[in-house]
Order: sequence, then structure tokens, then C-alpha cells
Amino acid sequence: MADTPLASATACDALHADILISGAGPVGLTLALALARRGQPSLLVDARPTNASRADPRALALSHGTRQLLEQLGAWPTQAATPITTIHVSQRGGFGRTLMNAAEMGVPALGYVVRYGDLWAALAARAEREGIAWRGDTRVADHGSVADGRRRVTLTSTGQGDAAAQPCATRLLVHAEGTPYDDPAVSVKDYGQHAVLAEVSTAQPHGNRAWERFTPDGPLALLPLEDKLAVVFTVPPEKAEHLLALDDAAFVAALQAQFGQRVTFTGTGSRASFPLALRLRDTLAGEREVWIGNTAQTLHPVSGQGFNLGLRDAWELAETLTPAVPHLVHTPDPGAAAPLAAYAQARRLDRRGGAAFTDGIVRLFSNDSTPLTLARGVGLLALDLLPPARRFVARRMIWGARAW
Ligand SMILES: Cc1cc2nc3c(=O)[nH]c(=O)nc-3n(C[C@H](O)[C@H](O)[C@H](O)COP(=O)(O)OP(=O)(O)OC[C@H]3O[C@@H](n4cnc5c(N)ncnc54)[C@H](O)[C@@H]3O)c2cc1C
Repeated sequence: MADTPLASATACDALHADILISGAGPVGLTLALALARRGQPSLLVDARPTNASRADPRALALSHGTRQLLEQLGAWPTQAATPITTIHVSQRGGFGRTLMNAAEMGVPALGYVVRYGDLWAALAARAEREGIAWRGDTRVADHGSVADGRRRVTLTSTGQGDAAAQPCATRLLVHAEGTPYDDPAVSVKDYGQHAVLAEVSTAQPHGNRAWERFTPDGPLALLPLEDKLAVVFTVPPEKAEHLLALDDAAFVAALQAQFGQRVTFTGTGSRASFPLALRLRDTLAGEREVWIGNTAQTLHPVSGQGFNLGLRDAWELAETLTPAVPHLVHTPDPGAAAPLAAYAQARRLDRRGGAAFTDGIVRLFSNDSTPLTLARGVGLLALDLLPPARRFVARRMIWGARAW
């Protein structure tokens, strides 16, 4: 894909866009593709320059269910995805461990690890092929006013300030802007943890195994990515600063000390960190606006739920706005209240379940109280001994609320 915006929509095309998607991250892109597949055009607008999305340092664990949906959109990054065939779960300083494997679940892989940038590039390339209208380097400001059946927004060219501001109007504004900060409509639970990210090399091949190790600082995940392991090292903020400041050898030693000896680390790439909090928007639908992806819910990365959940938001919204019943196709007004309310209702269980699942794991495992260490050991042992319980946890990770 070129580094310039895609089919560069000319001045204020949003005036004619029935659906304006604010944010062309992986969730916004998924929605635009899912709508296009059902014959519904939309306009994508993103504040970031194109290259910024490619360089995002996150490695994402994607579920088997996510792969199936991305394949339907023609946006599965085959070459860039590393399968996970087993997941080893354990706790530092306590007994008990469990092993989940793909064969037991009857799927080719429990999940796949992909760099955010590679996932984004696959979605963007598909959007380019579909001819989806896109403006990059442009921020959407929502003024909260609706008139004549349209929501009024302003598009501002990033870097050119207010001089380049354009008033626009759309029947439906979809917020796909990523993690919301300072938004009174979002409840926030700060975990007092940061995730330090790095790609590390190891003495042994990873054998497509992912590791989830619970420590009193927080969970430590190792995800197979090409011939390396992507590390999500959860620690208190001051320790994150310390880990970022270490030289490579000292970082590898700190990782080794935290993880233990089951894997031998030999080197590391560059590091980045993200603050971690649970952010839940109470109401998903308003007057001619709707929220999807991280702006609807931002979860702790433990068990890799965030994008998987956001993709299901996008899929559900596309299905709700363009029902696959011939006489209902092309809802004349995609911003009408009824479909938006139906979308919000349909997403309740999955998003609340995902938030409760990850929050429960973080609370249960991120401390070193002796009774809890014992209880966790018993839990991990039970998971190991009880295939139905193990299958349930694996299904939760693969299918979300459909696991029930
Ligand atoms: C450390 C870490 C590890 C993670 N691991 C996993 C994992 O293993 N598996 C998983 O499924 N998920 C994981 N996640 C979560 C995942 O990264 C997110 O759920 C996903 O990126 C959300 O995508 P999004 O499109 O909603 O938001 P984003 O990726 O944040 O994209 C939002 C886009 O909106 C644009 N934007 C913002 N404001 C505006 C505006 N006003 N106007 C126009 N554009 C705007 C931004 O420029 C950006 O491009 C992880 C997250 C973190 C922090």
C-alpha cells in the first residue's frame, strides 16, 4: 500500500458519507471491509500518518475464530501469522500448571501471533483493493450536535491545525478511535501495572508453544512469533521504567529471573511499554453515533482478548446495519436508533464477559498472598486434571461469549 491516504477522498466527502468511521486501526478497518462486503460504502478517517500504524510495537494473539472472520474478509495475514499449538500456564512461587493443546480442541491452532503492523497492513491492502474511501492525517472532532438527521463533526488535517478544519455531517458516526482517555462516559479501573514489550531470541526453538506465567508483579506472557518469542512483561510502573532503561544483557537477565529456567533467553530487540487499565464504556450507542473496539472497551492484555473482541464488535455492527435479508439490504438510514440499540444489546454479553474474564484473572493472579497461591495451585491442577474445564477456558479464548 502507498504511504499516502488510499483513494484520497476530496474535500469534505464526509458530507455525502452515510457512515463515517473515525479511526482506521484494525477494528475500524475491519468494519469498513465488512460493510463493503455487504454493499454498504463508508468513509474511513484516521489521525495517524500511515507509517505510524505499521510501526506499532504490539504483538497480538488472535483467536481461531478471528482468523475465520478475517479470512472471510480476504484480510488474513497468512505469511505473518505464527500458530500457537500449546499454551503452558503456571505461577511463579507456587505449584500447579496446566497445558492446553489444539488437538484436544479439534482446531488446527489455539491462536495465532501477528504483529499489529502486519495485521494492519493486511487489512489496509484489502481496503485499497476494495476501493474504500480513506483520509489519513485527519482527526475527527465530534461536537455532539445532530441536525436534519445528520451528526455534525469537524475534520482537521493533522499538522495543519484549525486552518484546515472542515465541517462535515454524516448519518452515522462510528467511533473506532482506540483507548479513550479522560472521557467521563468511560469507567476506569487502573491496574497499577505497565506492559513492557520486546521480541526476544532463545536458545531452543519455541515449538509453537505460548507461555503464560503468573507472578506477583503481574502476568508474563511469551508468544511464538516467527523464530522469536514476543514478550508481554507486566510489572508496576516504576519497574517498567527501570526495565526500559536497562541495557540488552541486563534486560535479558531480568526476564530470565522473572520467568525461570524453562526457556533460555539469548537476546532482545527494542522495548516499549503501555499502561494497563480496564476501561468500559457504559453506553455503546447514542444519537447517530456508536462505539466499537478499544474505544468501547479496553482490557488488560492477559489472555489476548482485546482485538478479538473489537473484531466481533465490528462484525456485529456490520451485520446489524446491513441485514442479509434481500428486502432489508441497504437500510435507508444506518443511523436510525433501532439498529444501533440492537447492536448495543447484542454486544452486552460478549464484552461484559470478556472484561470480567480478564479482570478476574488479573485480580486472582497478581498478588503473592499465601492462601491465594495455594488456591491458584489447586485451580491450575484442577484445570490440568479436568479436560472439560480446560476445554471451556480454551473455548472462551477461541470464541468469546459463544463459548457458553
Ligand atoms: C500490550 C498490549 C498487548 C495486547 N495484546 C493483545 C493480544 O494479544 N490480542 C488481542 O486481541 N488484543 C491485544 N491487545 C489489544 C489490541 O491491541 C487492541 O484491542 C486493538 O489494537 C484495538 O484496535 P482499535 O482499532 O480499536 O484501536 P487502535 O488500534 O488504538 O486504533 C485506533 C485508531 O484510531 C485513530 N484515532 C484516534 N483518535 C482519532 C480521531 N479523533 N480521529 C481520527 N482517528 C483517530 C488512531 O490514530 C488509531 O489509528 C493488546 C494491547 C496492548 C496494549
